[in-house]
Amino acid sequence: MNKNFIAGEWLDGARVSRNINPSDTRDLVGEYAQADAAQTRLAISAAEAAFPAWSLSTPQQRFDILDAVGTEILARRAELGDLLAREEGKTLPEAVGEVARAGNIFKFFAGEALRPGGEALPSVRPGVGVEITREALGVVGIITPWNFPIAIPAWKIAPALAYGNCVVFKPADLVPGSAWALAEILSRSGLPQGVFNLVMGRGSEVGAVLLDDPRIAAVTFTGSVATGQKVAAACVARMAKFQLEMGGKNPMIVLDDADLGVAVNCAVQSGFFSTGQRCTASSRLIVTDGIHDRFVAAVIEKMKTLKVDDARKAGTDIGPVVDQSQLGQDQEYLGIAQTEGARLAFGGEAIERNAEGQPGFYLRPALITDTTPEMRINREEVFGPVVSVLRARDYEQALLLANDTPFGLAAGIATTSLKHATHFKRHSQAGMVMVNLPTAGVDYHVPFGGRKGSSYGPREQGRYAAEFYTVVKTVYTQA
Ligand code: NAD
Repeated sequence: MNKNFIAGEWLDGARVSRNINPSDTRDLVGEYAQADAAQTRLAISAAEAAFPAWSLSTPQQRFDILDAVGTEILARRAELGDLLAREEGKTLPEAVGEVARAGNIFKFFAGEALRPGGEALPSVRPGVGVEITREALGVVGIITPWNFPIAIPAWKIAPALAYGNCVVFKPADLVPGSAWALAEILSRSGLPQGVFNLVMGRGSEVGAVLLDDPRIAAVTFTGSVATGQKVAAACVARMAKFQLEMGGKNPMIVLDDADLGVAVNCAVQSGFFSTGQRCTASSRLIVTDGIHDRFVAAVIEKMKTLKVDDARKAGTDIGPVVDQSQLGQDQEYLGIAQTEGARLAFGGEAIERNAEGQPGFYLRPALITDTTPEMRINREEVFGPVVSVLRARDYEQALLLANDTPFGLAAGIATTSLKHATHFKRHSQAGMVMVNLPTAGVDYHVPFGGRKGSSYGPREQGRYAAEFYTVVKTVYTQA
């Protein structure tokens, strides 16, 4: 039994959750304690008590701890990657890559602890000096989704601690294993008791306490739009700071002049890898007339070669969908698209057992063509290996279609035209723009986030993370 970490102690929970391997549903990854509301409040009390001392800890102390955490994560990337692939279903190379990213994030923010920003300015009044500094917020509530079980927790926990905040962390119910492993590393890192707390449990119970408790100064959330709206409403009601990263319906434009190999690689990579379960996945391919048929044929040829199998088996390209409910949602959207008149050009079959007879949530990646912009498949996030194709007359129409969405996380273009690439970089209404690169797959040291319905509040990651995890103070001194 893997317990919660509260006030420096490992505690049993009110209930137990079973972590199931989506590649083989007979495989129990582990049992995890589920905290209740009272335990969540206990964790908040511990974090509140630890805050005054931790917020005044030295940059060297924070650097040493975060750097050591990063070093251990990197050293254990193969083992932690295996656990991640086993509980979430992305392939082993993808999972090991995610773990490495988490390790690098801790090392990046270890460095940031040594570089707190500040300014000293002369006042407009004689003899007066002005200092502008940044201070920690207090206790930060961290709520994360299931699709990046270690990287997203890392990119929230590391900056929170680096800037002197205390943390109460609630991971997604489906993937407690990677979160628990990260908490276990943090529990041995030298952090004073109560600075970091892990409370695994239900969103409606543990998550709700984090939103409503007045001792939580700020909430950082990544997940669905529906839950994000609840986070926003609860935080506004009590004037708490909050940050939301939510869904996407990311477009990738393919122009007539694109390098076909590059375009197909970008589409397949960001549409289907990680089973399409990435908020930055390209789920709408917007293709101009002159290349449309060649491009669709080449994507289908590539899709035929993709091996859908156990996430941890060598040679697997696409692992399973995360669980039965997500698989059901993916299939439902395939049905909706066809009912609305689109064509299922390839894939979409659920595969109940792999070649070894393991029962899992396998779905052959699906390509849907002959779609129109108003179809639900082009407006709503599916969050699976399901990609639609929209036909466009020219670049100008493709740009209109790309921006015609309530979301604005990532957007891509495949083109050899400097003119169109330059125009798209400026006119795309997305937070992240990729030229001749997949929309999914980003660096760890630069800002991450979107516009419109995808994100709310300051950017995550890189130096920009300081905007959320600190508050500015302006000090006037008469010499
Ligand atoms: P979700 O909204 O169902 O859950 C996210 C987290 O919120 C979980 O920890 C959950 O337990 C918690 N939660 C649920 N109800 C709650 C409540 N009432 N109060 C407080 N917390 C509550 O999302 P998910 O299914 O885990 O993740 C998939 C979604 O995440 C997709 O929409 C995807 O696009 C999005 N996502 C976005 C980004 C990004 O950076 N923009 C990154 C990854 C995933």
